[in-house]
Amino acid sequence: MTTPRLEIDLAKIQHNAHVLVSLLGTQGISVWGVTKAMMGLPGIAKALLAAGVSGLADSRIENIQTMRLASVTADMMLIRSPMISQADLVVGAADVSLNTELDVISELSKAACAMRRTHGILLMVELGDLREGIMPADLESVVRQVLLFPNIALKGIGTNLACRCGVVPDAENMGELSNLADAIDATFGPVLSVVSGGNSSNLNWVLGAADTGRINNLRLGESILLGCEPLHRQAIEGLYTDAITLVGEVIESKTKPSRPWGEVAESAFGAVGPQADTGSISQAIIALGHMDTDPDGLTPPTGMKILGSSSDHLIVDSGGNRLSVGAEVAFQLNYSALIRAMVSPFIAKRIEQGRSDQDFSALQSPGLVA
Ligand SMILES: *Cc1c(COP(=O)(O)O)cnc(C)c1O
Repeated sequence: MTTPRLEIDLAKIQHNAHVLVSLLGTQGISVWGVTKAMMGLPGIAKALLAAGVSGLADSRIENIQTMRLASVTADMMLIRSPMISQADLVVGAADVSLNTELDVISELSKAACAMRRTHGILLMVELGDLREGIMPADLESVVRQVLLFPNIALKGIGTNLACRCGVVPDAENMGELSNLADAIDATFGPVLSVVSGGNSSNLNWVLGAADTGRINNLRLGESILLGCEPLHRQAIEGLYTDAITLVGEVIESKTKPSRPWGEVAESAFGAVGPQADTGSISQAIIALGHMDTDPDGLTPPTGMKILGSSSDHLIVDSGGNRLSVGAEVAFQLNYSALIRAMVSPFIAKRIEQGRSDQDFSALQSPGLVA
């Protein structure tokens, strides 16, 4: 089988999505399944829809186009503010986009008029993480102007935390979002049907909150794919954390000293810390490196330790059991390792429909397998 490869278990992803959709459903919160880490793979999109998500969301219009071309039928949201240069593409492929700039909305309006379509808008509000968002004090005046654009439908407001600065969603900032929604509706009549509280980092607060106010939507990617919440990277109870693994192949396996010899300066990727002398070790090289993934985001099987990496090599201490050349090693991935493996042309993507690791009724995605 092709190595290196990502093994993606659709049944586990569907299970994870279903658990979250059901849990949040009891609190009146809908879920948009975020497909960006999967490059809009149609199989994933269909698994998310089968799990009951109310729409699909992606940061790249190209991924939304991929899903449209594959005849995935769903409401699709572009969750990064559109580039003006892509206004036509956005209106052509996405039903809704997340916006913060009137100049962009104006271009979306022109494109929508030309195509005789209505394009939905969610206005993103800045609540402290200092990535995208309209400052709260400016929201009312932006809403007033958005309501005047032809062929633009204001659907709601939203916010995004914990992505740039790690600001945690809590009662205070989520309460502010609810209050802003109430204030806008009070001024302009009920205009906001969606109040999108955030991403996977909102789960801790939402699932523990007695009252989630006006928040009625979350946009979830990482928690569905990796089964963990992103604030402390703790596994979420009842979810699979191994729905996606990265499999690499051993290309060298030797007993070597644990310490380098000769004068030591910087390596290909900067300074290397001092290496402890633990005597001779079983060192193996796996054909995976920075060209394929984020090596720092990989977790090896128990008993194995990652010692270092370069563009094309991942060096591990295989502990007690020596690995044979040609053997395969499966790693768990964090979000950073996952997105880089997903976009690397060197990594094959193997989609499994199976219920468990034993049941490999493999369905390869021909466009993506190297
Ligand atoms: C990536 C992204 C999400 C999904 O984040 P996860 O942590 O993967 O759940 C939601 N909203 C926006 C705006 C994003 O960019």
